[in-house]
Amino acid sequence: MNSETLHGQVALVTGGGRGIGRAIAIALAAAGAKVGVTGRGEHDLAATSDAIRNSGGICAAAAGDATSPADVRRVVAEVTAQLGPVDILVNNAGVVGEFASPWESDPDLWWRTLEVNLRGPMLFSREVLPGMVERRHGRIVNIGSYVGVRPTPGNTAYATSKAALARYADSLAAAVADVGVKVFVLSPGLVRTSMSAQLPGVDDFSDSDWVPVEQAAHCVLRLARGDADALTGRFLHVTDDLGSLVRDAASIAEGGYYQLRLLKPDGPVD
Ligand code: NDP
Repeated sequence: MNSETLHGQVALVTGGGRGIGRAIAIALAAAGAKVGVTGRGEHDLAATSDAIRNSGGICAAAAGDATSPADVRRVVAEVTAQLGPVDILVNNAGVVGEFASPWESDPDLWWRTLEVNLRGPMLFSREVLPGMVERRHGRIVNIGSYVGVRPTPGNTAYATSKAALARYADSLAAAVADVGVKVFVLSPGLVRTSMSAQLPGVDDFSDSDWVPVEQAAHCVLRLARGDADALTGRFLHVTDDLGSLVRDAASIAEGGYYQLRLLKPDGPVD
């Protein structure tokens, strides 16, 4: 496995003010990256910045709404001005949206979930990609969910947004395959955050259902430093054995595994 040092590299973590995003930002900074964090809540961003700086790391915070093209442009410009061009983008900001039957869903809330979870990653990717392509170096990690790869009757917006994010990410990976930029989708598992606290039946989950936030962050760190570059375009889960998947990368690519596919009894539809 090729592990790159993150010293001198610049990472931008969306939704970096709390939850999984904060843990990712802290892990990347501890590994030597200069880290930009963004989200709407300035207090949360300041708390992450303070945690990183108090540990000797470098952090810049820039508040903005991930669904606004003007905000995204300004956030990337501010982080670039303070830290340098972005080498690693972690599209982590997300909302779980409304739990409702499809016919009772509020159309505006439904669409807002798509805007945050899909348009946000598209806007940030679009903003950092020209620099990555020019430098022929960059990694984009999109935080997905297993909910995106199986039918989810109680929250069609979230499931649809995460499925679309997976397709966006593998399409993007194919578009930049020849210019040294890698793109992943990572399902972090079930992590205790303010988002998962909203899940129906959350009080009945057992301890073994939960993934420590540090484990999810460590997996992002491994993708960010290039441990799994051979798996660009793939949908990975936090508990996957990255080492063995990397060893099987050629057959995974050939079989079209670890991607959204339409299966028929006699195999995938090409
Ligand atoms: P949290 O609710 O704790 O954090 C969500 C983050 O996204 C916050 O920092 C929030 O900041 C930011 N955010 C939300 N809306 C916007 C917006 N419009 N513009 C900018 N930032 C925004 O959730 P988690 O940490 O649990 O989730 C992080 C990611 O992990 C999400 O993509 C989620 O779908 C995914 N995930 C989480 C799982 C879990 O079990 N927790 C399981 C599977 C996937 P602010 O509100 O200040 O803008």
